[in-house]
Amino acid sequence: MTFVPSNLPVSGKQETPLAVPATNEQQKVLPSDFDVPFIPLIDLNLAEIPSKGLPYPKGAAISYRPYLYGEVKQISQSKIQIRGMIDHILNGIECSFPKYDITLADLLYIGLLRKISTIGDTELMLPYVCPNCFAKNTPKVDTSVLDFDYIGVPALPIRAVMSKGTLVFKPLTVGKFIELINDGKQEDEIAYLVYQCDGIKINNSVMPVNRESLHRYFSMANTVDGAVLTQVDKRLYHGVKPVSVVCSNKSCNFETSIALDGGEAYLIPFHSSDDERKKSIESKLSFGE
Ligand SMILES: [Zn+2]
Repeated sequence: MTFVPSNLPVSGKQETPLAVPATNEQQKVLPSDFDVPFIPLIDLNLAEIPSKGLPYPKGAAISYRPYLYGEVKQISQSKIQIRGMIDHILNGIECSFPKYDITLADLLYIGLLRKISTIGDTELMLPYVCPNCFAKNTPKVDTSVLDFDYIGVPALPIRAVMSKGTLVFKPLTVGKFIELINDGKQEDEIAYLVYQCDGIKINNSVMPVNRESLHRYFSMANTVDGAVLTQVDKRLYHGVKPVSVVCSNKSCNFETSIALDGGEAYLIPFHSSDDERKKSIESKLSFGE
């Protein structure tokens, strides 16, 4: 006896017509529709993302879709560098303003959302190697524990009074980050501040400043300017908080934290200073236009 798949017409028997009369709903599905699969877009509430939507134009909208099957395959098959990761995330985003103006931290968060919406689960697998005993761990973390470090400003940009004048800062966008990578500055912490500086405020306009001279100025900053830069860096920082996990090796139990968005390493804030100094430094910062 041969196996006959139940959903195929069996020869010799009266064939049931394959074409079931289509309802209005079904008639919409044409072969050409398979070229562009319908993927629902999910709207983001910009007030609830790490940047609180502050860097974006009023009324801006960002939406994303889950990863496509092919994308997941591509991502899991290749060792993707940060640049490739950015392109993958950007591919699934619709935006009412240029995509490259999204902040890097928001983008990495959206990448995480795309991943979660693809998995269709509320738990994320977080494979990591224990830094203490080198055991492989794959804890599951419930996505409801996700927490953010929100951007620390009431409005943007930040205007910072420094010895050379008032400098204007905005958080690192994807576009600026790509320029930074292309310039080979990924490991250069000062460069992150340089690329977040829009320029110097002269009268009512912001004049761009040559990045090399800005880098020299920041590198050789006096203690006060240095402290102002530290504050600017801290205030602009935003992202998904790392999740704390415990090694499953019972004789180890080492607690460590994992950066979910992979962005932590790229935006490390400088060390904080004491309170008194912080206050006087704070008075040098003002926010918004
Ligand atoms: Zn361990």
